[in-house]
Amino acid sequence: MPAQFETFLCLSDNIGVLMHDPATGKTATIDVPDAEAVLAAAARRGWVISDILITHEHGDHVQGVAAVKEKTGATVAGPMQAMTSAPVDIVVQDETQVRVGNLRGDVRATPGHSAGHVIYHFADENAAFVGDVLFVMGCGRVSGSMDQMWKSVGIVGALPDDTKLWVGHDYTLSNAKFALSVDPDNEDLQKRFMRAETMKANGELWGTTNIGMEKLTNPFLRLKEKAIRKATRLGEGQTQRDTFEALREMKNRF
Ligand SMILES: [Zn+2]
Repeated sequence: MPAQFETFLCLSDNIGVLMHDPATGKTATIDVPDAEAVLAAAARRGWVISDILITHEHGDHVQGVAAVKEKTGATVAGPMQAMTSAPVDIVVQDETQVRVGNLRGDVRATPGHSAGHVIYHFADENAAFVGDVLFVMGCGRVSGSMDQMWKSVGIVGALPDDTKLWVGHDYTLSNAKFALSVDPDNEDLQKRFMRAETMKANGELWGTTNIGMEKLTNPFLRLKEKAIRKATRLGEGQTQRDTFEALREMKNRF
């Protein structure tokens, strides 16, 4: 039986997501930005949270973990770096396997946004939870090294095209504006930008995407494209990693 998902807003722009295994009744929350919002979302579906999967140690992703664990007795999996701020039961690292009921996920280490960042890929469900590595039409800020972040974005980008992604924040409209500034003739991007404007105007959340659509519209996965290279103005001999760094710095100033 395929997994079921519930996506909802937490805090001002964090994406909450639950993954439910109908065969066993187990339910995971990916991060807990806001314990009340997560518990309310589970209650709406009639699900009980059994597992918490932490993507990274930043406060807005882990601050509700202890409260949800206390209420539900959930098992908490997360990177070592999250242990100082959350009650982690199972420490995960690159290539750790996790289970939510019968659903099996692979952990990949994806540092760069934070030292302990990991993503969870549930290959049989065509689903991945990528936290603050990749956003819809954008990528996360870099607190570690640019090399790490470039590689981590590449790990996400190498997942199969039909992989559905849940990202950590709805920065979609702002990302779309930046993406269009460096890739103005991209028709797929133009359409997505308009959709982002409409959704924002309607107060709708946009926190899911898939790899195929990101390859068409996300500048951080389009480093080989002429328009993107041109926008960064680095000239001959620039590597994809150079382009990535220049783009990320342009976005910081945008
Ligand atoms: Zn973060």
